[in-house]
Amino acid sequence: MTGRNIELRGVAVHNLKHVDLDIPLHQLVVLCGVSGSGKTSLALDTLFAEGQRRYIESFSIYSRQFLQRLDKPAADRIDGIPASIAVTRGEVSRASRTTIGTTTETLDYLRLLYSKIGRLFCPSCGKAVERSSAQSAAEQLLKLPDACRVMIGFAADAADGESREQVVARLQAAGFVRVVVDRRTQNLADHASLAVATTEPLLVIVDRIATGPQSIQRLRDSLETALTNGSGRAVTFVERDALATSDVPSAAEPLAIVTIDDRPWRRIDFTSRLECLRCNRQFADPEPRRLSFNSPLGACPTCEGAGEVADADSKRRAPMFRVCPACQGNRVNEEALAWRLAGRNIADATRITIDDALDFLARLPLTEHQKQISRAPVAQLRSRLGFLQQVGLGYLSLDRTLRTLSGGEVQRVSLTSALGSNLVNMLYVLDEPSVGLHPRDTDRLIYAIKGLKDRGNSVVVVEHEEAMLRAADQLIEIGPAAGDRGGEIVFQGPLEEMLAPGASLTGEFLAGRRGISIPERRRPTNRGWIKLFGARGNNLQNLTVEFPLGVLCLVTGVSGAGKSTLVQDTLYGALARRKNKACDEPLPYDDVVGDGQIDDVILVDQDPIGRSARSNPVTYIKAFDPIRAVFAETIEARTHNYSTGHFSFNVEGGRCSACEGTGYIQIDMQFMTDIFMKCSQCDGARYRKEILAVKYRGRNIAEVLAMTVREAFGFFRGQPKVQARLKQLIDVGLEYLQLGQPANTLSSGEAQRLKLAAHLSDASRNRTLFILDEPTTGLHFADVVTLLDCFEALLSVGHSLIVVEHNLQLMRAADYLIDLGPGAGEDGGCVVARGTPEEVARCEASYTGRFLAMSLVHLTSDN
Ligand code: ADP
Ligand code: ADP
Ligand code: ZN
Repeated sequence: MTGRNIELRGVAVHNLKHVDLDIPLHQLVVLCGVSGSGKTSLALDTLFAEGQRRYIESFSIYSRQFLQRLDKPAADRIDGIPASIAVTRGEVSRASRTTIGTTTETLDYLRLLYSKIGRLFCPSCGKAVERSSAQSAAEQLLKLPDACRVMIGFAADAADGESREQVVARLQAAGFVRVVVDRRTQNLADHASLAVATTEPLLVIVDRIATGPQSIQRLRDSLETALTNGSGRAVTFVERDALATSDVPSAAEPLAIVTIDDRPWRRIDFTSRLECLRCNRQFADPEPRRLSFNSPLGACPTCEGAGEVADADSKRRAPMFRVCPACQGNRVNEEALAWRLAGRNIADATRITIDDALDFLARLPLTEHQKQISRAPVAQLRSRLGFLQQVGLGYLSLDRTLRTLSGGEVQRVSLTSALGSNLVNMLYVLDEPSVGLHPRDTDRLIYAIKGLKDRGNSVVVVEHEEAMLRAADQLIEIGPAAGDRGGEIVFQGPLEEMLAPGASLTGEFLAGRRGISIPERRRPTNRGWIKLFGARGNNLQNLTVEFPLGVLCLVTGVSGAGKSTLVQDTLYGALARRKNKACDEPLPYDDVVGDGQIDDVILVDQDPIGRSARSNPVTYIKAFDPIRAVFAETIEARTHNYSTGHFSFNVEGGRCSACEGTGYIQIDMQFMTDIFMKCSQCDGARYRKEILAVKYRGRNIAEVLAMTVREAFGFFRGQPKVQARLKQLIDVGLEYLQLGQPANTLSSGEAQRLKLAAHLSDASRNRTLFILDEPTTGLHFADVVTLLDCFEALLSVGHSLIVVEHNLQLMRAADYLIDLGPGAGEDGGCVVARGTPEEVARCEASYTGRFLAMSLVHLTSDN
């Protein structure tokens, strides 16, 4: 098992500096290092990319024809790479209807379970539909008092084109003797009278028998005969007086009283088919696809399984959707909903929380036989739902669409799908799985990830979370710094070695020799408050919350406590409305006061800066305008009458016309990811030759775009307008980025800091409230120090910060905490504690408080 390695030689992807590295297989390897050091370039763009390439290679010749066009990662050689799977916070399209249940395959197993042991209730009459066998029907009849007279028979239908005489002849040939016609028992031999009597179906009597323990065998045989000859239906007549209402066999419908030979009998029918005898309605066998909204056999015919329909009444341009009136959003048809387990139909079972679903499974009242036939789906459901619960998602329901989840939640859901796949000998590459997770839940996440390894896989995790670093079999640190100053392996080994003095930057923080000291004095909360009244969105329990201004205020709580609901979905919308900004409708609240103390509110979320590769750091912070002005001022430019527009890659004039200034040509691969090829006209330089001939201090515009921020800052000395803009990027720790690096290649952490940078100097001397969502995503301990400096800069000029966070390092440095909880979903939605970190640490009821207490003690004793 052990001893084998993935061998990497001369890896030069992005900033990696001809890295030679052996990564042990079948171990949990954690990659760390400051943001921008090259972790993702190694983990995803090298290991995963090559592993996936080889994986596709093992498929068909058909898919291989496209492979040769896929770039290999820039490396001399990569050996021993297993097929790989990446679990990242990949984006979920806004239109996607994928739910937790579909993506984790739990819904498939739920359908299987329902198809195996569900009970059918007729949608027309609501009564249970039972299928009888000769055995079960005999057992029902034996519930009657002893010595009770019973007639067993069946209705003889004529086959196509068969005359009454022919039917009678057929029955006689089969050995039947008696029939009930016209309320009389008659002999089949009386041809003539039978033939003319009536057109009503002939009721053939198979047997007449008295009940009692001794008659079980005969009852069963006769019922068998009746069911077989009656194409699945048996008709019985029971002496009326023998049958008290309490004895009515549930399977036997209807219970008409008939007179035969002048005596009253109760007619009781049994069927071995799936049908409601009362409504004469037939049902199909419950195959899983008949329970699925993805199959035409199971989907609601009105909404075709979407659960919602376009609202025709809507006067708006954009289509509005409302719950499908036919299925009430259940997405499946009436018949699929007719199957129930312990009172719940399949749509109900996906609507309860995962915690409740596990409970539901555990409490299913199952017979021994049902236990046996449902063993496989039950085991799969327990394991998958259990895993979702383990990674802290027990408060979600299976029908939640992925697009309504946060990035961290989506990733942990994908991790469940990966775990459920039961693959072995794979390489799993995980990108910061702890995002969005409270420290309370990280141990369980780590346990689950170790499960991947224990099943015989290799696991490489990019992570900053301390507990995850401590759990690694082997740690690899990339550094020493970011971008061109990173890209080297600065440490490889087990934790003990990393903790040794001087071994690595990460080790220094882990050993407590470096860290964010607890601020001497926290900023006082005397610069005003914003008060939000009666917030009731999602799980919020009619909260009234006061947010301090002019300080670093953190909103904490376990995943699902209600942080995003309160901060992004309610507070932001409430304030944005007051400031007349376009925003989504806020979730319900009563009032907000104190907004006069701020001039603007800005939500800095995790969304990427822009889809287009045209946006980049330098355009985003508007440093490109002064840079183009510098070029337009050169003598060379003025002699040719080049204006600033000629140095833009967004408008025609100076840009390369073949690639329209992007530097590459995009090739549509139909059903695979598009391929980008360097533009052959400008060789990737984006501009026309004559524009590239214009130089400032010996460099042309394309060469400037290839500089890092740090290089460019030095290069533009004496150009205060350019330098002031670039300084904003340096202040948020992005000095390693290339000016022209496409925005769509930035990590979410980088993108978030870029957004902050754009506001740092803004000419507006506004008092702005910044609302941030987990800004430490992707950040190393050392990066968090930089981020705090950046916060300090914003606060010192009069702005305010409200930050949703889990990072303990940041919590310790905060001025004020608002802790939501105590738990997730229905167990959350309250303010559990608020105040300084020390005050919250004293609150026993708060999970955050407990972890904070440990971490504050740990720090004080170390120093
Ligand atoms: P980390 O994962 O450690 O934060 P990355 O591997 O994402 O770092 O980035 C390492 C360096 O490579 C950074 O300077 C980053 O800006 C750069 N980089 C990342 N992706 C690309 C890309 N597609 N093109 C050019 N440079 C990139
Ligand atoms: P946190 O930000 O603390 O992780 P959230 O505010 O995202 O918590 O969620 C609080 C509760 O509201 C959870 O039970 C969550 O499932 C529910 N919730 C959040 N967003 C939605 C949504 N779009 N639809 C339905 N329920 C939601
Ligand atoms: Zn419908």
